[in-house]
Amino acid sequence: MAYAITQTCCNDASCVSVCPVNCIHPTPDEPEFGTTDMLYIDPRACIDCGACADACPVDAVFPVDRLRGPDTVFGDLNRDWFRDHPNDHAWGAPSFPRSLPGELGALRIAVVGTGPSAGYTAQELLRSTSAEITMIDRLPVTGGLLRHGVAPDHQSTKRIAESFASVFHDPRLRMHLNVEIGTDVTHQELAAHHHAVVYAVGAAADRRLGIPGEDLPGSLPATAFVGWYNAEPTVPADAVELSAERVVVVGNGNVAVDIARILLTDPDRLAATDIADHALAALRRSRVREVVLLARRGPGQAAWTRAEFLALRQLPGVEVVVEDHPEVRAAIEAAVSRTQSQAGPGTQAGPESRAALLAGLPLVPYDGAAEPGPGRRIVLRFLSAPVELSGDGRVEALTVERTTLAADGRVEGTGAEDVLRAGLVVRSIGHRGVPLPGLPFDERAGTVAHRDGRVVDPATGRPLPGTYVVGWAKRGPSGGIGANRACARETVDALLDDAAARTLPVPGPGRKDFERLVRRRRPDVVGLRELRAVDRAERERGEAEGRPRVKLATVPELLAAGRRR
Ligand code: NAP
Repeated sequence: MAYAITQTCCNDASCVSVCPVNCIHPTPDEPEFGTTDMLYIDPRACIDCGACADACPVDAVFPVDRLRGPDTVFGDLNRDWFRDHPNDHAWGAPSFPRSLPGELGALRIAVVGTGPSAGYTAQELLRSTSAEITMIDRLPVTGGLLRHGVAPDHQSTKRIAESFASVFHDPRLRMHLNVEIGTDVTHQELAAHHHAVVYAVGAAADRRLGIPGEDLPGSLPATAFVGWYNAEPTVPADAVELSAERVVVVGNGNVAVDIARILLTDPDRLAATDIADHALAALRRSRVREVVLLARRGPGQAAWTRAEFLALRQLPGVEVVVEDHPEVRAAIEAAVSRTQSQAGPGTQAGPESRAALLAGLPLVPYDGAAEPGPGRRIVLRFLSAPVELSGDGRVEALTVERTTLAADGRVEGTGAEDVLRAGLVVRSIGHRGVPLPGLPFDERAGTVAHRDGRVVDPATGRPLPGTYVVGWAKRGPSGGIGANRACARETVDALLDDAAARTLPVPGPGRKDFERLVRRRRPDVVGLRELRAVDRAERERGEAEGRPRVKLATVPELLAAGRRR
């Protein structure tokens, strides 16, 4: 019986490199790799060896006959991907090229950030070179979006942190947490102590809607909502109010799907995860019954991935409905007939086939001004753009304008407006990078200006010697965790090429000098020993409650746990 890849696939291709028969695709060197939601196993070629399941860092690979309940659909999704790519069966062997320059010398490299892109960067550097690495994070705990972004009910995705933990414990790596570059230590100081600095700082801010009422209490950016349920220490425990029955989530990506799912999942199920204690308590008291996912475009342009949407459809005790509208109905019908003529419904026949995944969901007339009905439900409302948030001192309503899609795919307003009554509106319309003092920033893209990972001066296009960028700070806020692996490879390749070409600046002071500088500026710097103590404290608290860990949710708590050796 063949194996199949399931919902939690992180696309980092660890499975591809161990498959003895090359039956997992797309591989990193195939064109679809950049756009695919997940990887797939060809059941006709799979020899059932299980090497992929052992290598998968997020526990996403299972024998097809062991798939149960909602996961059974992944057997079909894996098989159908190969039906949709019938000409690709002369698969070449996957290649993972790295031309290591012969003489690199002893490099000292700083990586700013400890999230997935930083983890993959450090892993690449440790594997390929004898470099010493300094890792720095503004928070007193590692993980970035792996700890503070991935939803708590996606525990197997978080397992990838274990492979990064072994990287962080490498004797050639030093950890300096609770230190902010640009505030505690400048870029210039960091650069002066290292041959190269790699910025893996993500995209910390949210995009703005730019509509009246956006900053009313009760209107929250997704980063705040996600940080709240994930115990991000900069988000207060009382940041979210769940006293209203209807919540509107603006946006139609995977983060919006995560938020809708967390709002309506039975809290008893969340109690077995590492969700923040304050969020669990608030969700137990929550009055929220209805979550509206508001999309300005149609179902064919949804930004969520298939696997995440299929999981949402299967949420126990929650009905998922689609607001009935002629254009939406037509898009679903057209997608179904297109995919049926090419393959099975819901397969990979093109991006617009996402609309086919809505087939079978109830199409209902929807009145957002009325009280939500009984029971918990998610309403998918398409072709609706937010116009204004209003309320007396806090959000009470969101005005939306009906939109239509022009022939060229642009969203056009129709002028028809209506009002959704909601006590909480979460703006989940994507992240945005934040400029770092001393680093060039591309305001339009919201990223650090770069070429192949080399940070460049936007005015001259010239690289800043020894300065690199990786992850969302480099490519913008898109792609799952595994996408950072290829991204880190590109940046590390550029760095190693520069090392071989002897264009990296030679640092003056040594590692000890840098550590002294950091300690002077941040006496409460957190190192690996303290990090271990935090990890132990969280796991011990979790063990007592039958949970993977109970997260410490504030900086003082984290620092105190770190001091308790
Ligand atoms: P995203 O995928 O870029 O989705 C943003 C959504 O906001 C889109 O639906 C977009 O609609 C909408 N939007 C943007 N501007 C808007 C505006 N002014 N008014 C109304 N709607 C607007 O962003 P995301 O959900 O934050 O996710 C970021 C990345 O993380 C994605 O690659 C995602 O797949 C990944 N992620 C993955 C997982 C997972 O695998 N489980 C979980 C979370 C996040 P248009 O398309 O019309 O612009």
